[in-house]
Amino acid sequence: MATQADSRGRFGQFGGRYIPETLMNAVIELNDAYERFKNDPQFNHELEVLFSEYANRPSRLYFARKMTEDLGGAKIYFKREDLNFTGAHKINNVLGQALLAKKMGKTRLIAETGAGQHGVATATAAAYFGMECVVFMGKVDTERQALNVYKMKLLGAKVVPVTSGTATLKDAVSEAFREWTNRIADTHYCLGSVMGPHPFPTIVRDFQAVISRESRAQILEAEGRLPDAVLACVGGGSNAIGSFYHYIDDSSVKLIGCEAAGRGIDTYETAATVSTGRTGIFHGMKSLFCQNEFGQIAPVYSISAGLDYPGIGPEHAYLHETGRAQYVPVTDEEAVQAFEYTSRLEGIIPAIESSHAIAHAMKIAPEMGKDQILVITVSGRGDKDCAAVARYRGHRIEE
Ligand SMILES: *Cc1c(COP(=O)(O)O)cnc(C)c1O
Repeated sequence: MATQADSRGRFGQFGGRYIPETLMNAVIELNDAYERFKNDPQFNHELEVLFSEYANRPSRLYFARKMTEDLGGAKIYFKREDLNFTGAHKINNVLGQALLAKKMGKTRLIAETGAGQHGVATATAAAYFGMECVVFMGKVDTERQALNVYKMKLLGAKVVPVTSGTATLKDAVSEAFREWTNRIADTHYCLGSVMGPHPFPTIVRDFQAVISRESRAQILEAEGRLPDAVLACVGGGSNAIGSFYHYIDDSSVKLIGCEAAGRGIDTYETAATVSTGRTGIFHGMKSLFCQNEFGQIAPVYSISAGLDYPGIGPEHAYLHETGRAQYVPVTDEEAVQAFEYTSRLEGIIPAIESSHAIAHAMKIAPEMGKDQILVITVSGRGDKDCAAVARYRGHRIEE
């Protein structure tokens, strides 16, 4: 059902395993373990208990009544991943991978992080399972996100600032792969999105698919039918693929990924991979990447730290190529307006990442009929973004 990677880990021409020989054993060991545990009733039972008792699942499907009335078109529902423990969808993937690592006998988790959200989620799971944790974070990001660095340390993790390249997320990913190559026996690399070499895009997708498994049942319960469209923001693409997955076979449901256009797709300050990128190979996968004219990975920019990754997961590249999903750019300004609008109207402060999806819904909902339905994934809560949005609006607040 839905899309599945073939035996070589490819979604159409995308995906695969473009990695050094030294990593091949680790990736094969992980693949074998995942194949063994993914249908294991005991494993799935333990994960379900973790989801409900620790992560606060199922997350609500919330009818945004005031926004629906104000926009005057389609009925709008929010899938509230912001209500999960640690404040975003990241915990779904992290609990799944940490449990898998424990079953594999690993005692140490490493992770990359950009804004720090995935790092905090991984440090949380490591504390819960009593595992050692090391998080790689671009030096620039450690300075921008000092509070998350403090949280990771508080949770018992070691944070390693990465100074290579632009000292941001993509460099942290590269450094985490390097560290994994050095130390495979006791270490699992808990990758934060649907990217990297096979089987990571499949593993992360499967753990995040809980979002659409729940939302599908919830919307059928609330409305007696499927939505007309599902919207989610796309960085690497984990909350989006999780939001889409159980609707892929329902051709009546439009799937819309909202990318960070930054200052606009006609500028160099953008992170809109599908709109501006080309096919390439990076971080172990073939996919779409923002590149310069020489095929080098381009520096990317977005107001939202969680979306400024220069690539997109291979399953998204495939859904784009086949036309099953649509990917649209949303600028900083549009996202900030959606952030402010949702806060004021619904009393919900969404993550600035999620605000990209809300912004696109604000464009299309008024043109839709009152009997039509949109489900928007609110991937996280926006407390972490208040200082950045205030700064964007020209105010300074102490963090
Ligand atoms: C990390 C993050 C994202 C982007 O990651 P995806 O893998 O694209 O989901 C989006 N929203 C929030 C709240 C995040 O923390």
